[in-house]
Amino acid sequence: MKIAEVRTHLLEHKLAVPFQSASMRFDRRVHILVEIVCDDGTVGWGECLGPARPNAAVVAAYAPWLVGANPLETEKLWAVLYNALRDQGQRGLAVTALSGIDIALWDIKGKHLGQPVSMLLGGRFRETVRAYATGSFKRDGVDRAEDNASDIALYRSQGFHASKIKVGFGIEEDLRVIRAAREAAGSEMRLMADANHGYGVLEAVEFGRRAAEYGLDWFEEPVVPEQLAAYREVRARQPLPVAGGETWHSRWGMKEPIETRSIDIVQPDLAGVGGFTEAKRVADLAALHGVRVVPHVWGTAVHIAAVLQFIAAMVPDPVRVNPVEPILEFDRTDNPFRQAVVKAPIEHQNGVVAIPNGPGLGIEINRDALSEFRMRDG
Ligand SMILES: [Mg+2]
Repeated sequence: MKIAEVRTHLLEHKLAVPFQSASMRFDRRVHILVEIVCDDGTVGWGECLGPARPNAAVVAAYAPWLVGANPLETEKLWAVLYNALRDQGQRGLAVTALSGIDIALWDIKGKHLGQPVSMLLGGRFRETVRAYATGSFKRDGVDRAEDNASDIALYRSQGFHASKIKVGFGIEEDLRVIRAAREAAGSEMRLMADANHGYGVLEAVEFGRRAAEYGLDWFEEPVVPEQLAAYREVRARQPLPVAGGETWHSRWGMKEPIETRSIDIVQPDLAGVGGFTEAKRVADLAALHGVRVVPHVWGTAVHIAAVLQFIAAMVPDPVRVNPVEPILEFDRTDNPFRQAVVKAPIEHQNGVVAIPNGPGLGIEINRDALSEFRMRDG
């Protein structure tokens, strides 16, 4: 079996109501899928985190090394592609594009061997995973505290055990939102806060100290990802566990934050960190240093399906009678790609998602949806 062709599919959807995190405004959702076609007709699917056109350009730049190669050689191809752009790459688009390719290659390998990717990664520790709801962005034209609280009340009624709230807009305003969210959540439901690196160190320390009384499981991306000493200071000077990692790419990008314990929880993104090949290494590195892994997810059903395979194979740390189970980040915002790009949508039942057990990623792509949401020029 040889790789015959590497394609990308650029998708976009204009949002009815724009929303924002502390660092980014969204008026449309844009995602990119990678399709790798083999000479025997086998097709694998992957996804890259981040902007669609730049990712597509880098995937195209990698294609000459892929066409004619054996798609089962995932480790070898990862090394060859990484090396191809190493001198000007090492992170960012060079690795997010590689991530989408790697996920597609593992999908091919699973289909070829008739096994879900989770089995190829070493086996399935679980058939289902509890999801936490990611929503609660700042939406245009509404009161943020009321709007986020009504989101939380909805997720609670739907059976979600946990939900994450966007902060980083200003301490007093953020605390008002957290207070309203806790009221809507009740005492049982877990809450997390995500600043999308919107704070400086002093603000993050103050937020963490004052928000602790509302019971937050983690404080995500308190400061910009380049400032690891600042991460460590935030972790040392306020009581909330610190999470981060969605923008740290490859094992080298993860090495310092994990080894220096800049974080309590690391959040590798399968579509950004380097695909299955590299996410496995990062999980092993995290386990060496006692850092919990909660994968970051922001994408289509392809991304979600890949993460589900990875989560199925995550080794409990430590292995014990009643281990700490991984959780799935489940985006609840306006995102048709979460469902439309696959023939059997991945949904939750009472806040729990079943992990597909078909070959590869365990999904079938709906090509009509790819045409419907194809990015237009301009
Ligand atoms: Mg985040």
